[in-house]
Amino acid sequence: MKPVKNLVTFDFHNTLATCDPWFYLEIRDLPLDVLTHIGPALLRDHTREDVTARYRSLRQGVIASGREIDAVDCVTRIAAELDIEVDRASIEEGVHRLMRQSMEHVEPVQGAIEVVREIAGRGIPVGVISSAVYHPFLEWTLENFGIAQDLAFVVTSASCGHYKSNPEIYRYAMSLVGADPSRSIHVGDSPKWDVCAAQQAGMQAIWFSNGNMDAFVDRAPETTPDYTANALSETAPWIYRYLDLPLT
Ligand SMILES: [Mg+2]
Repeated sequence: MKPVKNLVTFDFHNTLATCDPWFYLEIRDLPLDVLTHIGPALLRDHTREDVTARYRSLRQGVIASGREIDAVDCVTRIAAELDIEVDRASIEEGVHRLMRQSMEHVEPVQGAIEVVREIAGRGIPVGVISSAVYHPFLEWTLENFGIAQDLAFVVTSASCGHYKSNPEIYRYAMSLVGADPSRSIHVGDSPKWDVCAAQQAGMQAIWFSNGNMDAFVDRAPETTPDYTANALSETAPWIYRYLDLPLT
């Protein structure tokens, strides 16, 4: 008989890590800040509001289509829309620099490091699944937290092309380790992107009710998490019970 393949995955932002400057780059400021970094004169004919509104519109298109456009491509597209001539290498350098700077503000959510080590230490593959425009930021952070080597994979929308509005990102993650959806559990703070989308992919979903709803997420559809955890430390015991594993 083929052995069943378990998997536990965690969302990144406001589940494993907090970092407001990074989050605002992701959702609001990236093209404005990158183009300003490359040369403030580039934006002399444009208002901040216009640049930000165009980026917001681009991101809404990503959410609607489920197809990610990564950080460098987003800035390239906004620059083209504004008739700003800027080379790709400068955009890549600008994105890298600003993402790196925002690392100064990243912090683990209480219990995040411990729960990843604890579950991975039981021999269960643990992965991270995140909608994020710049994959390296997650790798730097998880390395910085000292848990990179405990993780079976890190999947971002930037690395796989699917935003979390498409359950395919979860199916793709499960395929990386040959996991059985009925033995796969995702943990995250967004009812819409973590609970609903993961359940659509056949996973169990633990809603991490941390009190910080992700900004700019439309009202969540009616969702019923398989379990609600008020602290990350509450997730492991539920996961072991679900997987029929001894609690200790
Ligand atoms: Mg989140």
